[in-house]
Amino acid sequence: MTQPNPQALDRIRIVLTRTSHPGNIGAAARAMKTMGLSQLHLVAPAIFPNSQADAMASGAGDLLAGARVHATLAEALADTTLALGLSARRRDIAADMLTPGEAVSRILSEAPDADVALVFGNEASGLSNEELEQCQGLVTIPANPDYSSLNLAAAVQVLSYEIRRQWLGRFDWSQPEADMANNGEIERFYTHLETTLAELDFLNPGSPGRLMSKLRRLFSRTRLSREEVNILRGILSAAQAAGTRRDNS
Ligand code: SAH
Repeated sequence: MTQPNPQALDRIRIVLTRTSHPGNIGAAARAMKTMGLSQLHLVAPAIFPNSQADAMASGAGDLLAGARVHATLAEALADTTLALGLSARRRDIAADMLTPGEAVSRILSEAPDADVALVFGNEASGLSNEELEQCQGLVTIPANPDYSSLNLAAAVQVLSYEIRRQWLGRFDWSQPEADMANNGEIERFYTHLETTLAELDFLNPGSPGRLMSKLRRLFSRTRLSREEVNILRGILSAAQAAGTRRDNS
């Protein structure tokens, strides 16, 4: 997996082509900024700059001020290595159809080292075939098949959130907190757990079945900190003491 890179988000651009309603540009800027994205590129917007865009951007006016305006999509994509187009409809073109999750995984793999783009179409007509052909892949948000067209800024929000979600996931996994329990400590916890469950007659050592494997799977879904292991082992010790008192009474 790619190393996490806080700068990766700065290499992802959101490209809005031929946007009709300036309010959507402002709402898209807001959607981006809430998720930590900043690079907004506009291709031949109908009306920009505009007070409706400013109003919808709310506190994200800085993204509008920094937006790059291009005459053509080719110009907006010239220095990118990967451009993925967003389309509600399947088209008969020879491009990969990606889910947002797959698309963002690709984007984040490239983003630390190169500029990448997500391209969104006009509100009424979407991306033209000519625009789609300039993209290396096609992304569809799996929406209600009977009503699958999201508002432009809502589509930007879905992808921006997916970027942030995956980016945070990579970040968390590769920057472990200092107090993570190591595997030796976790193994000693499992031994303690097994002993305690046997003492409490919850587990029969003669026929343990798959209980310990199932409990291991449960705990391995999380990353236990040293403090959490200590709490769990404290609970086990308390249970053992209570069991001993019960047996002696
Ligand atoms: N009638 C147009 C809808 C455009 S909505 C069409 O059929 O394409 C404006 C833009 O939002 C689209 O061009 C696309 O980039 C994005 N969008 C809206 N709904 C989407 C969906 N379900 N999947 C992917 N992109 C979507």
